[in-house]
Amino acid sequence: MERLQKYMAACGVASRRKCEELIESGQVTVNGQTITELGFRVDPIMDLIHVNGQPLHKENKKYIMLHKPRGYVTTVTDPQNRKTVIDLLDNIEERLFPVGRLDYDTSGLLLLTNDGDLAYKLTHPSFELEKEYVAKVLGKPHENALNALRKGVMLEDGITAPAKVELLECDANFSKIKIIIHEGRNRQVRRMFDYIKHPVRRLMREKVGFLTLEGLDIGNYRDLTSEEVTRLF
Ligand code: URA
Repeated sequence: MERLQKYMAACGVASRRKCEELIESGQVTVNGQTITELGFRVDPIMDLIHVNGQPLHKENKKYIMLHKPRGYVTTVTDPQNRKTVIDLLDNIEERLFPVGRLDYDTSGLLLLTNDGDLAYKLTHPSFELEKEYVAKVLGKPHENALNALRKGVMLEDGITAPAKVELLECDANFSKIKIIIHEGRNRQVRRMFDYIKHPVRRLMREKVGFLTLEGLDIGNYRDLTSEEVTRLF
């Protein structure tokens, strides 16, 4: 017997957290009965599980990395009908979902998978997966301001963990700054630069853990190799 949300995640429905939301909001039935209890256990062989009326079956695990362009949301559907990263995928039968998120206006490396366990692990704060961004910000931040970002700044949702920050270049109006964080709070990098009063004008994620965008043009994607998947786990 397995916990319902764990089994749903293993089947590629969504991340485990998202599966919990689906259960709690009454979108999952087991043998015809709506289940809203998170501790519910199922027998993957005997029980008939439906999510939003669709029968659940196990899919092959798939892992891809996408070079996300600006102007796409990183959800599977969008209530405002904006383009989603799923629109960039061609000929993929598995139901993939993004691991974590990038803002509509952020470009860069995004992982997609149907493996809820990997998604759960990579987005869990205790895993401390490093994400490297290059931000084009307004003006030239003083070294003291960059040190504040390195140490941690107080945002509305608490103090940020120490970050690695490097000024790459600047001209009369803008600076290009590399910033590496391991948290994944909503709009975190933009809010950190807002805090030091140098708002972000462009943001790109260049690395996730050891994965880089090398050889991957904007809007394109590729499967992760089995060695890359093994290293992520
Ligand atoms: N931080 C942000 O502010 N935006 C992103 O898209 C990612 C990290």
